[in-house]
Amino acid sequence: MLRSCLYFLAAYCSLSLLSPAMAAEPHDENAILTAKSDTSLTSPTQFLDYPLGQWHLRHDQINFYLKQLARESAKVSIEKSGQSHEARQQLTAVISSAKNQARLDEILRQRQTVKSGDTQQGPLVIWLAYSIHGDEASGAHAALKLSHLLASSNEQWINRLLDEAVILITPSQNPDGLDRFSNWTNNYRGQVNVSDSNHKEHRQNWPSGRSNHYFADLNRDWLFLRHPESQGRVALFHKWQPHYVGDFHEMGRDQSYFFQPGVPSRTHPLTPKDNQALTAKLTKFHQQALDELKQSYFSRQMFDDFYYGKGSTYPDINGSIGILFEQASPRGQVQATRNGELRLQEAIHNHVATSISSLKGALALKDELLEYQSEFYQGRDKTLKKGRQQGFLIGAPANANRITDLSALLEQHHIEFYYLTKSVTQGKVDFAVQTSLFIPVNQPQKSLLLAMFDNRTEFTDPTFYDVSSWNLEQAYHLQLIRNAKLDIDVLSKKRPKPTAFNVDEQAVSLLINWQQDNAAPVLQQLLQTGIRAKFAGKPFTIRVDDIDVTFPAGSLQIPLKQTGNSAEKITAKLTELVKRYPLNIASVTTSSSVSGIDLGSPDFHPVKPIKPLLVTGQGTNASEVGELWYYLDTKLAVPVTLVDIGRLTRLTLSDYSHIILPGGSYSSLDEKFARKLGQFAKLGGTIIAQKGALTWLNKGHLLKTDLKEARFYNQLFDSTNLSFADREKLEARQSIGGAILELTLDPTHPLSFGIRGNSLPILKNKALGLTETSTPFIVAAKYAEEPLLSGYLAEEYQRSFSMSPAILLEPRGKGAIVILADNLMFRNIWLGSEKVYANALYFVPALD
Ligand SMILES: [Zn+2]
Repeated sequence: MLRSCLYFLAAYCSLSLLSPAMAAEPHDENAILTAKSDTSLTSPTQFLDYPLGQWHLRHDQINFYLKQLARESAKVSIEKSGQSHEARQQLTAVISSAKNQARLDEILRQRQTVKSGDTQQGPLVIWLAYSIHGDEASGAHAALKLSHLLASSNEQWINRLLDEAVILITPSQNPDGLDRFSNWTNNYRGQVNVSDSNHKEHRQNWPSGRSNHYFADLNRDWLFLRHPESQGRVALFHKWQPHYVGDFHEMGRDQSYFFQPGVPSRTHPLTPKDNQALTAKLTKFHQQALDELKQSYFSRQMFDDFYYGKGSTYPDINGSIGILFEQASPRGQVQATRNGELRLQEAIHNHVATSISSLKGALALKDELLEYQSEFYQGRDKTLKKGRQQGFLIGAPANANRITDLSALLEQHHIEFYYLTKSVTQGKVDFAVQTSLFIPVNQPQKSLLLAMFDNRTEFTDPTFYDVSSWNLEQAYHLQLIRNAKLDIDVLSKKRPKPTAFNVDEQAVSLLINWQQDNAAPVLQQLLQTGIRAKFAGKPFTIRVDDIDVTFPAGSLQIPLKQTGNSAEKITAKLTELVKRYPLNIASVTTSSSVSGIDLGSPDFHPVKPIKPLLVTGQGTNASEVGELWYYLDTKLAVPVTLVDIGRLTRLTLSDYSHIILPGGSYSSLDEKFARKLGQFAKLGGTIIAQKGALTWLNKGHLLKTDLKEARFYNQLFDSTNLSFADREKLEARQSIGGAILELTLDPTHPLSFGIRGNSLPILKNKALGLTETSTPFIVAAKYAEEPLLSGYLAEEYQRSFSMSPAILLEPRGKGAIVILADNLMFRNIWLGSEKVYANALYFVPALD
């Protein structure tokens, strides 16, 4: 206690940002407090009982500190925005004057009128959010320091700031990743600092703390909201509708400091010009702050404002100004860099400085920020006008589940939409009540709506920091009419009632259309209960309640006469399952079809229970592993065994039905294991391999089809007569940031079952292809003749991929290898193409 008090006394200096003297003393957390500060509030160092940053913070320490500060200060309250996957609470400190704190409800009511575009009442709202990548931890530390500073300071400008603004501070946006990192790095921190970047303290295990529980990059999830952390954050965004959002990160250790604007030519065209003008005006505040610290920095040269699924760009398409900050990473305590040793304390200090410059800048530009946000929402219809409505008409034929997912997503983004009261036909396409919805274009969230369905293939700059397209129409494989005109009478806010599950007393079988997203998890639950199901190898039409209904290939049949399972037991189980996984189940009273195969046909194949093994660990791509795990675990609810590469050689592979190889290098596996894996397939196992895993399988002589890889594609690009300065441009054209390509399916192939039509959009982000094959019956999908649907893909690639195989099924003895040139469940948002994995899991082994 005594030591802490001395810290306080010794540490006063001016708060007119950080004084130059501070640069020499970056360790002292209280140095930015002033003589007027309220010393009764517990500082982070007092709370921890050691100097902030001496050990990396754990998430629970952050939460306990925020709660303590809120108990001690009338200027601080706490906002909860749900839990992480591992049930860690996501907290935000709400800091404002005591007077504003007493009327937060009123302020929040005012914030709810922002999207109406009326003149704004109430304070400026600034949201500073840190460490969404859990191993970029200087931000979380800076956030605690800043929270204490704002709550305790009585500096004049801070008093004015808290009178005129509400500051939201979210120190740790990825709680599970932050704890994974801090436990790791603290474990290997010695009494003596080791700056060698090879030291374990700076080199994380697999996976790193960057990602969340399912190894997902949460800073790519702001549009599609697959994870609870993102859902909580986007709810917080729309509740407060901030004017300014600061997004604090770390980058490579050899860099200096970066703040936006990013590369101007790489700003998404839907972002208003005024947004970029305000971003530019704010830079002088950050420049001054860092110049005072003699900290070098840069802007405009890296990073971009293109993909709206990031924390600094989502605000840009929602009436706010998002600014990205990147500090060179010290990772552990001290790391050697090409600019000398970089200490955690220095990194914390820089982020505190730009947090303060954010506050100063936003306060100085308050009127402009308020006006910008109001203007952003002006001229948009708040309610439907009478008569015909113009908008997006969306359908997911036979798949109400897809519409359920979509409607939940739109609701979270505050995008208005309507259900249909009766089926309609537009542009010769039928839209049924259960499987359609309508989104009016002229609505408050028009910009975000257009961004989510953005489709473009022309770009001024072919360089992309992330994907070049994410069109929801293609990711969800929807039918979409963009300029539909519907009468107001056919629109309703009320969700249509799902079809009830009734079983006819005379029923002989139950049938499930495989196009429904919930068909696969229901099948998995049936298999786990010991209820047998078959899938149709060919389509058929059969009478259901006196109507002829066509079931596509892949549809499930659950016979009601099963040894060991009474019809009552089967019906009871499905009644229970449709509550958890709503879907349509038809009951039929005859095995005789109107056309196509009868229900007793040998073309109905029994589905075998599955026991998949997912290969993980160093040498595999953590994002792809995480996406596959998320799908198997949270969607199919199948127990999946995760095994690190290093342990694979010791396992009895025949204990498993499927071995799934996500993208990766697999360089630690040798030919001996390749032979073992080949034997696994020959004896009836199924291997599912994608992207980089194919390279290793090819080397191990497990593939019959040849691969085309980067070396092949690079020579397609003409590099003669290019100057040295053209090198970056050539590299940009040669890289595939992520573009949407069309596959042409063989709809009769089991890997294509359940996918509507014979065209499937997929996301491609790797220069990898398969050579033409003369082996019959193994190609399930090829790239279309003109494959590019949306995004940037160099013409050299477009020509080369055209009509070449993309999805193959190579038989191997009694088993098979499923060959995927692409990751078909990228970020778990490719709901159309992820069906291929369900097909590979349940249908392929049944084909022997
Ligand atoms: Zn980051």
